[in-house]
Amino acid sequence: MKNSLIKLTLFLCIYCVSALPVVAGQLLLTHGTLLDPSDQSITKQHLLLDETGIIARLDSIPANFTGQQLDINGKFVIPGLIDMHTHAFGNRGPNAQSEIMGPGTTAQVVLHAGVTGFVDLFGNEDQLFEHRRLQQQGLIAGADIYTSLSCLTAPGGHCSQFGKTRTIKSEDEARQQIAELAAKQADVIKLVSTIGGSLPSLSPALLKTSVDEAKKRGIKTIVHIHTLADIDSAIAAGADAITHLPDDAAITAELAQRLAAHKVVVIPTLACDTDEYEFMFSDVLQSALAKQLADPRIIQGYQKAASDMTPEQKQQAKQRTEKYYLSMKHLVAADVLLLSGTDAGNYGTLQGFTVHREMEKFVASGLTTWQALASATSDARLFLGKPAGLQAGAEASLVILDSSPIEDIRNSQKISAVIHQGKVIH
Ligand SMILES: [Zn+2]
Repeated sequence: MKNSLIKLTLFLCIYCVSALPVVAGQLLLTHGTLLDPSDQSITKQHLLLDETGIIARLDSIPANFTGQQLDINGKFVIPGLIDMHTHAFGNRGPNAQSEIMGPGTTAQVVLHAGVTGFVDLFGNEDQLFEHRRLQQQGLIAGADIYTSLSCLTAPGGHCSQFGKTRTIKSEDEARQQIAELAAKQADVIKLVSTIGGSLPSLSPALLKTSVDEAKKRGIKTIVHIHTLADIDSAIAAGADAITHLPDDAAITAELAQRLAAHKVVVIPTLACDTDEYEFMFSDVLQSALAKQLADPRIIQGYQKAASDMTPEQKQQAKQRTEKYYLSMKHLVAADVLLLSGTDAGNYGTLQGFTVHREMEKFVASGLTTWQALASATSDARLFLGKPAGLQAGAEASLVILDSSPIEDIRNSQKISAVIHQGKVIH
């Protein structure tokens, strides 16, 4: 009897799966156009999902479906955006008081921009650890928090000017620090190289020991770079990714080809480097999404900064912008994999909003709209070891847009709804 009951249950379960039945908590998005950056496909299908992920893509609506249905006819579905480099303490800008939010509030705010996950690359380690723990236990809501927890830098090196961080001055210390971060399940390891800069830098040898140790533990490394020499050091160390573009000179075509050959991913934070000027002298902050996300005092602060800027400063800003775009031109030509990170928390950025600006600037640098979209969605997920795209098994964190970002990447800002882990957020 017991055996036959088990068999009957098994039979029913198999039957259930094939008939796509009625399960509480399921959501069916009907009649939308699915834009999947992982295979660059455009498909009109219904999408069935729940909190565990995308369950199936369907050609017809199951007759017996009684879960929640959302008709999104005429709208476009993309995977939720991921910011690959942020500092989730809040926003700051010139002539304005900083908007202090912390990881918990930032995680809720950025969902409004369609950002369903972010990688915090240094803040208050204890606070980040605790917020991520509470979130993973379902005790606080908001975009998925991934984090390096801390920064690994030379004593007195970059990051230490912003607060408590971890420092390394010997190979033993490098191994020890990475072991501690691994024990706290750091999602990535952030290392700082600033050779030739005004602050002490990790040496190429210590960078390599650190990268080797992280690799041994299966954790990816992201190296903050400041100069061309740092990029050489990161390539020699075997780093998985570098972040920022060099300040001393543009990345050459040859260096870009070496980055590509070593499969080093680049998170350039181009908007952070170039938007401070555009926030002052264009109508970027007047967009509906920016106004929704930014404290009005911060927008006013940029307006005041614009009136204070001298012609020489404007000229310098223009030259810096040209240098960064030249780096981008060579990276794009060499087919280096670019990921979208904002470095939000700095001037020239807004939490959430700047992911859209980064994609826009990637397109201005020569990426296709598909590639720019992948930089903030499917490629970011793959870097984090998550399933990419809009296939069954992928995470059910999605953005529903009024217009197609493949036609114009700026349409990523026309957000109709955001779904995070199977639940409609707004
Ligand atoms: Zn940063």
